[in-house]
Amino acid sequence: MPKLILILGDQLSESISSLQQYNPKTDIILMCEVWTEATYVKHHKKKIAFLFSAMRHFAENLKQNGYTLIYIKLDDPNNTGSFKSEVGRVVKKHAIDHIVVTHPGEFRVLKDMQTWESTFNIPVDIKPDDRFLCSKENFSTWASGRKQMRMEYFYREMRKQYSILMLDDQPIGGQWNYDSENRKPPKEGLKIEATYKTDIDQITQEVLALVERQFTDHFGELEPFHYAVTREQALQALEVFITQRLPYFGDYQDAMVQGEPWMHHSQISFYLNCGLLLPLECISAAEIAYQHELAPLNAVEGFIRQILGWREYVRGIYWLKMPEYASANFFNASRNLPDFYWTANTKMNCLRQCVLETKQNAYAHHIQRLMVLGNFALLAGIDPAKVNEWFLIVYADAYEWVELPNVTGMILFADGGYLASKPYAAGGAYINKMSNYCKNCSYAVAKKSGPDACPFNYLYWNFLKTNRKQLASNQRIGMMYRIFDKMTKDQQKQIETDSAHFFKSLEKATSV
Ligand SMILES: Cc1cc2nc3c(=O)[nH]c(=O)nc-3n(C[C@H](O)[C@H](O)[C@H](O)COP(=O)(O)OP(=O)(O)OC[C@H]3O[C@@H](n4cnc5c(N)ncnc54)[C@H](O)[C@@H]3O)c2cc1C
Ligand code: SF4
Repeated sequence: MPKLILILGDQLSESISSLQQYNPKTDIILMCEVWTEATYVKHHKKKIAFLFSAMRHFAENLKQNGYTLIYIKLDDPNNTGSFKSEVGRVVKKHAIDHIVVTHPGEFRVLKDMQTWESTFNIPVDIKPDDRFLCSKENFSTWASGRKQMRMEYFYREMRKQYSILMLDDQPIGGQWNYDSENRKPPKEGLKIEATYKTDIDQITQEVLALVERQFTDHFGELEPFHYAVTREQALQALEVFITQRLPYFGDYQDAMVQGEPWMHHSQISFYLNCGLLLPLECISAAEIAYQHELAPLNAVEGFIRQILGWREYVRGIYWLKMPEYASANFFNASRNLPDFYWTANTKMNCLRQCVLETKQNAYAHHIQRLMVLGNFALLAGIDPAKVNEWFLIVYADAYEWVELPNVTGMILFADGGYLASKPYAAGGAYINKMSNYCKNCSYAVAKKSGPDACPFNYLYWNFLKTNRKQLASNQRIGMMYRIFDKMTKDQQKQIETDSAHFFKSLEKATSV
C-alpha cells in the first residue's frame, strides 16, 4: 500500500527526514502551492515568488532523480487551497494508507497536521526536523530549571557538542565570543562587494507572472528578482559570501550605510530557512575559511555564532514557549503600527531607508531590523501582534519560528526578559554612530528636544519613564534611571511634551 510523503515549501532539502522514508515502488510525494499559506498573512510579493520558484525547481529536481511526485500549482483549477484538503484528495485517489511528513516550522501548521489522523483515518508520522542542530527535546532539557535563558551559554554548549572552532575543550583563540571587536562604524568610502545575483529562468518567469496576477494587493516590489532558487545557486551564493564578504563580516556587522542594503552580511537566511542550504555546511565553510587564513577569527566566530547560536536558540524558545509566546505583551503596548512601515512616508531618514529597502528586497540586515525598525517599535509602544505581523509579512526569510522570538523577545522585550537580558533600546546617537542616515535627515540627531529634535532621543527617555515599574529592577538599565533622575523637572517635562506631540502627529497620520 502506498504512503504519501508531504514536502512543505520550507522543506526543500533532499536529505529531509520524510524523504528518507521514500519507497520508490509504492510511494508518492506531494508538494502544493496553497492559498491558505500564501495569504494567512499578506506576504511580500518577492517572498511568495522566491518560495514558489524554489519549490518548482526542487520538484523538477526530484522528478529528474526518479521520485514519483505530484506537484499542485496555485492556479491549478482543482487546487482546493489548503494542505489538509490537498492531502485529502491524494489520500482518496491513491488509496494511501500512511502519511509521512517532517515536523513543520510553525505551530499553526503542526496543530492542523495533528487533526489529519482522525480526519483521514490513517496514521500520520511526523518526523523530527533534523536539519536543525539542536532538537526540540535537547533544547528543552538544556532549558529546564533556568528562569532566564542566555544565548551565550547555549552557544558554548553547541560549540562543544559539534566541536566547532575548538581546540580540545577550549575555544580557539581563547575566547568564546569576539562581539566587542564587531562594532566598527562604517568608514567613509567603505568597499562593499556586489551581492550575488542570478538570471531569471523560465520557471521563475512563470512564477513572477503568477504572483503579479494573483497578489496585486500584497506589499513589496517583485522585480528586480535575483535570488538563488536552486540548491546549486544557493551554494554559489554561499561561496560568494565566504570569499568576498566574510573577511569584513565581523568588523562591520553592526554598520549601516544608506544605499547599501546588503553590507557584508551573507544573505543566506532565505536559503537556510527553506532548506536549500543546511546550517552545518555554512558553518563548516566559514570554519575552513578561517583555517586557510582567508578570514579573521572575529568574523568567522561572529558568523558561526549567528547560525549555531542565535538561530538554534530562537527556534528552541519558539517550540518551548508556544502558544503563549505569541500573545506576550510585557509592557501592555497597544499603539497601532504607523502607516510609514508600509509607505516609507516619514521624515525620519533611518526608518525611511530601511522601509524602502525592505519593500524593494524583502530583506533588511540584522541591525536595521533590530536598531532602527525594531527600536522604534519598542520606543513607540506598538502592539506586539501588529509588529509581529509586519515582520512576518515583509521578509523573505520570515517564518514564525524565527520571526516571533526575534520580535517578541529580542526587539520588544514583550516576554519580560526571557530571551534577552535587557531591551535593545537606544536613542539617535547609536544610529548616528553606526550609520550615515542622520546626515540626510530632516531631524537633528544632536538635538534632544523641540520639534526638530531626533524623535529617538526623547522617545528613548519617555519609554524608560513610562515602563519604570517593569524595568527599574533590571540591573543592566538601572544606570539610565539614575541619569534620568538627575535631569531637571523641566527637562523631564519636555521629554513628556515632545513625546505626546509626536504621538499625536502619528495618530493624525501627519507625516513625522
Ligand atoms: C526583529 C527581527 C526580526 C527577524 N526576523 C527574522 C526572520 O523572520 N527570519 C530570519 O531568518 N531571521 C530573522 N531575524 C534575524 C536576522 O536579522 C536575519 O536572520 C538576518 O538579517 C538575515 O540576513 P543574513 O542571511 O544576511 O544574515 P547574517 O547577518 O549574514 O547572519 C548569518 C545567519 O545567521 C542567522 N541569524 C543571524 N541572526 C539571527 C537571529 N537573531 N535569529 C535567527 N537567526 C539568525 C541567519 O540564518 C543568517 O542567515 C530577525 C531579527 C530581528 C531583530
Ligand atoms: S536624526 Fe534620528 S530620525 Fe533622523 S536618521 Fe538620525 S536617528 Fe533617524
